[in-house]
Amino acid sequence: MRITALLLLALTALTSAVSYHGYKVVSVTPRTTAEAQVLQNAVQQLQLEQWTHPQSLGVPVDVLVPPSLAYVFLSGLRARHIPVQVKITDVQAIIDEQAATRTVSQSLPRAFDHTEYHSLDEIYSILDGVEADFGSLVSSYIAGTTYEGRDIRVAKVSSGGGDTRPVVWIDCGIHAREWITPAFCQYFLDQLTSGYGSNSDVTALLDTYDFHIMPVTNPDGYEFTWSDDRLWRKNRVPNDGGCHGVDLNRNFDAAFGETGASGNPCSDTYYGTSAFSEKETQTVRDALGALGDRVVMYYNMHSYSQLWMFPYGYNYDLPANYDEQNRVAGVGVAALEAVHGTPYEYGPIASTIYIASGSSVDWVYDSAGVQYSYTIELRDQGSWGFLLPADQILPTGEETFAGVVAAINAI
Ligand SMILES: [Zn+2]
Repeated sequence: MRITALLLLALTALTSAVSYHGYKVVSVTPRTTAEAQVLQNAVQQLQLEQWTHPQSLGVPVDVLVPPSLAYVFLSGLRARHIPVQVKITDVQAIIDEQAATRTVSQSLPRAFDHTEYHSLDEIYSILDGVEADFGSLVSSYIAGTTYEGRDIRVAKVSSGGGDTRPVVWIDCGIHAREWITPAFCQYFLDQLTSGYGSNSDVTALLDTYDFHIMPVTNPDGYEFTWSDDRLWRKNRVPNDGGCHGVDLNRNFDAAFGETGASGNPCSDTYYGTSAFSEKETQTVRDALGALGDRVVMYYNMHSYSQLWMFPYGYNYDLPANYDEQNRVAGVGVAALEAVHGTPYEYGPIASTIYIASGSSVDWVYDSAGVQYSYTIELRDQGSWGFLLPADQILPTGEETFAGVVAAINAI
C-alpha cells in the first residue's frame, strides 16, 4: 500500500510538467486608492497572477508570486507599509500533499464519494453508476465534444412530465482549476437522486422542475489540471503563437471582447478569436437553446471568494429585473449562510467582483432570456483558494445545496 502510494507520487511528479515549488500566495490589503495603485503597478510590472479582485479597499487581494519575485514584491509593499500576509508559503507542497493523501482505488468508482476530488473519468464513471441505480430519475446525454475529443455530458434529473417542466440548469467546472465546482455538481446530483421519494422538499422540487446538470463544462482543461498543471484555468485549444486555451467565461456573445477580458492568447482571460469560437461555449449555448423557454433558472459555478452574483458583468448597468434577481439571491445567501455560518456577499458581477465581458450569465440573461441567471463563487475566501482541501467538499455541498434550493423555491 505504502509502496503503491510512493510509486504513484513518483509518477505524478514525472508527469507533472508545471511545478509551483516555492510559489507563494500573498494576501495584500490596500487601504487607500494610492496603495491599491502601488499594488496594481507591482502586479503589472512583475507580471504576477492576481487570484482575487475585490472592488473595495480594505479587502485582501490574493496574488500568486513565484519564488524569484517574492523578495522584491514583499519588500516593496512592506517599505510602503501596505499590509501583506503570506497565506501559502509553498503552493507545490500543498498540491503534493493533497495528491499524496488521496486514496487511489484500482477501479473506477460507480457511486458518489464526497470525501475526495475526482478525475474526469471517475466523474463520468460515477454518472454511469448513478444512471444504472436511478434509471427512471437520471439520464445523461452528451451535449458536445471538446477540441481533444472528450465528451461534455449533462445529467438530466426528471421525475416525469415528458420534458415539459420548467428547467433549472447548473454548470460546473468551466474554469479548470476550480475543483470544488465539479464536486458541488456531484453533491447536488446526489441530493436530488437520493432524496426523491424520501425527502419531502426534494420530492416536491423534482415534481415541479427538471434539472440539467453539466458537471464538467471544460473537460480538456480539467484533465490538464490533473495531469500537468493544477492551476490551469482555460480550455486547451491551441492558439496562434503557441499558447493554449481560451477563457470560456469570456467567450460568450455578451459584449464580447470588451472590458475585463484579454485579446492576448497567452493571458488567463483570453476571450478567443470570436464569440462562441469554442466547442464548450457552443455546447452550453446549443443545449440551452434546445431547452428553449423551459429554462427558468441558470447557475454557472466558480470558486473562490464566497459571492452570489447576477448580471451585469460587462458594465455597471443593472438588469431590468434587478430587484427580483437581487431578492432571490438574498434568499439563497441567507439559506446558505444558515447551514455553516459561511459569510457570502451578493449583487451584480460588475460591482461585486469586477467588470468581465463575454460571461455566460450575461449572455444567458440577455440572449437566452432566462430571468434568474446566477454565478456563484464557492468557498473559500483565500486560506486555500483553488486548493480547497477535500474535507470541505461536504460542507460546501451542504450549504450551497440549501442556498440553491431556497432560491428556486423563492421564484
Ligand atoms: Zn471561475
